[in-house]
Amino acid sequence: MNEAKGTALITGASSGIGAIYADRLARQGYDLILVARNADKLGRVAKTIQEQTGRKVETVAADLGDARDLRAVEDRLSGDAGITMLVNNAGIGSTAQTLEADVDAMSAMVSLNVNALMRLSYAAVPAFAGRGRGTIVNIASIVAVAPEVLNGVYGGTKAFVLAFSQNLRHELAATGVQIQVVLPGATATDFWDIAGTPVEHLPGEIVMRADDLVDAALAGLAREEFATIPGLHDESRWEVFEAARQAMAGELSTSMPAARYRTLEGAAS
Ligand code: NAP
Repeated sequence: MNEAKGTALITGASSGIGAIYADRLARQGYDLILVARNADKLGRVAKTIQEQTGRKVETVAADLGDARDLRAVEDRLSGDAGITMLVNNAGIGSTAQTLEADVDAMSAMVSLNVNALMRLSYAAVPAFAGRGRGTIVNIASIVAVAPEVLNGVYGGTKAFVLAFSQNLRHELAATGVQIQVVLPGATATDFWDIAGTPVEHLPGEIVMRADDLVDAALAGLAREEFATIPGLHDESRWEVFEAARQAMAGELSTSMPAARYRTLEGAAS
């Protein structure tokens, strides 16, 4: 076991953003556990990283939409004291509009993007908190705050990732566990083919290279940021948004309906 950094478990590490996280974290000194369905692709990613960095890289072929496979990864997270980082990256999207989307595909998306991420976090949190050390990186999306952009269920799953991460950061503030949520914009990976719109159909100026995205996200982690939005150049936009949300939070629950609703009731009687 690598005592300095420990082991990072990365889901969705067979391609795209996850495979680059694997490369970068190995270069930072982490040993790796790489999780995805495609064992051959995982094996190729692992071999390259092992050769280039000399780090220990293990692969786990698992379908995180399958309860039994998911449980095996949960057990690994809760039982392996060498794991110091969880990168919840595996996810699928859709560009289908509500009237044309297949509801079973939507359910499968919720299962992976929401249920698997939640269960893996629940496996890691007690272990990390108990040791007073650990990092959870949750890959959301800009659609978490801009759900009009793509498929609505996809936006909903990523809004879950953001909200869940906000709560984890709040609850775990005193435990030594670091929580980061990453909100990528359009990123050049296989995601787009699988989601139904090839990335080449998007305007080049809104698409980031996957290695730039991951390097920026890791720079945000090193800055101990909570929310990292690599494509957002004006950081104050997020700060204003977040300040408005927090200012409103204390006013949302009261014993009396607001005056604008009481006016209607009064007019009727
Ligand atoms: P990608 O290249 O398609 O990678 C997705 C990864 O998830 C693959 O390694 C895939 O491997 C794995 N995966 C898919 N279904 C799985 C399942 N049922 N069980 C286990 N692993 C599964 O796409 P990406 O862009 O790197 O996506 C990574 C994350 O970034 C996702 O959460 C996505 O929502 C988010 N994101 C992407 C973009 C973008 O524009 N690309 C923007 C915002 C957010 P296998 O097929 O081998 O299982």
